[in-house]
Amino acid sequence: MGLKVLKFGGSSLADAAHFRQVAEIIKSEPQRRYIVASAPGKRHSGDSKITDLLYKCYALAADEEDITEVFNEIKGRYNDIITELGIDLDLTEVFEKIRLSVLHSSGRDYVASRGEYLNAMILAKYLDYTFIDAKKVIFFKEDGTFDSEKTNDILRDRLSRCDYAVIPGFYGSMPNGTIKTFSRGGSDITGSIVARAASATLYENWTDVSGFLMADPRIIDNPRVIETITYKELRELSYMGATVLHEDAIFPVRYSKIPINIRNTNKPSDRGTFIVPESDEVSDCIITGVAGRTGFSSITIEKDMMNSELGLGRKVLQVVEEHGISFEHFPSGIDTMTVIVSTKALAAKRADVLAGICKNVNPENIFVEENLALIAVVGRGMVKAKGTAARVFVALANAGVNIRMIDQGSSELNIIVGVDANDYIIALKAIYDEFVK
Ligand code: ASP
Repeated sequence: MGLKVLKFGGSSLADAAHFRQVAEIIKSEPQRRYIVASAPGKRHSGDSKITDLLYKCYALAADEEDITEVFNEIKGRYNDIITELGIDLDLTEVFEKIRLSVLHSSGRDYVASRGEYLNAMILAKYLDYTFIDAKKVIFFKEDGTFDSEKTNDILRDRLSRCDYAVIPGFYGSMPNGTIKTFSRGGSDITGSIVARAASATLYENWTDVSGFLMADPRIIDNPRVIETITYKELRELSYMGATVLHEDAIFPVRYSKIPINIRNTNKPSDRGTFIVPESDEVSDCIITGVAGRTGFSSITIEKDMMNSELGLGRKVLQVVEEHGISFEHFPSGIDTMTVIVSTKALAAKRADVLAGICKNVNPENIFVEENLALIAVVGRGMVKAKGTAARVFVALANAGVNIRMIDQGSSELNIIVGVDANDYIIALKAIYDEFVK
């Protein structure tokens, strides 16, 4: 029987009651063997995440201010968990070592990583699992990028010598032994790395929602949960702002084609969302999800005979690149082309970018339109279903929304439409209702 790797997010390990729920989940299946823990998150709105308190401690110490109050709050959170669970664990010395390190200007990443370190120690003790310090098994290269092969070799070997273990998420070590963290939310990445090294059959990512939703719940009331989504579809939706999982978390498991199952610690019987390498199974709605963002601008360039001018696209994009702006989309016509960029990224460099394009390609006309929203309609089922694009456009037309841009990837995994930002919410609702209701 295959083994499973489980990652529990901060809200799933925020207090003793959650630790109990987590232990019950883990112990209910013997294949649940390797556990990755986040630092304690918020217990209620208005509460603080331990990681944020640690960053605060670091900042206070750097300004030579007193850290006592914040540090005691952190200690209190852990001690409450230990006492309420009745675990025989005294962290006094560990806390003191951390406190001194904070005062003696240890790195910011070291300080932040202690949230996961302490929580994983407590969880390991509570479960009676081995504690494996991430600094000994997760490695970064000299340039700060993740060292996947060294990590995989050493971690695989370490896990092969231990049946049940808890590993802190979020951090690893640099070649000189100092601690480095991933970006925020990085315990998701650790979970994926451990799943790959353990050759797990499943990576369960336990959080406080029952999976990915088909649309943003702030816009759509009670959107449906996505049952199955492919890695590629997830990338498309995450790019548009759908967040549940750290966007880098799929890369390690993608390598070995291990599925990820997003689960809800507070509702363990919910099936959650399966993120899989590929799937033939298509949802009855045809689309997998719809997501979008505002804050885009388009730069449109018009020039007669553009289609026969060799290298014109490259020259336009070169100017955008030289100004450090990444382009989001690049739809083109016969004598026009449009570069879609983030309004914020363009703001400070707008005049220089336009002047650069004029100099490079000498267009007849060039203009910028702001206030654009992009909406991605994503679904592997669209390849086979005729008329999906028509349904999107008719739904928007019926809702009175003018489409300013259309871009369909040749993979037919998505249709992206650009609309006026003022129409964003109406447009998103119209598309969701067309396919889901
Ligand atoms: N504790 C870290 C954070 O708050 C990492 C994580 O939870 O994944 O970002």
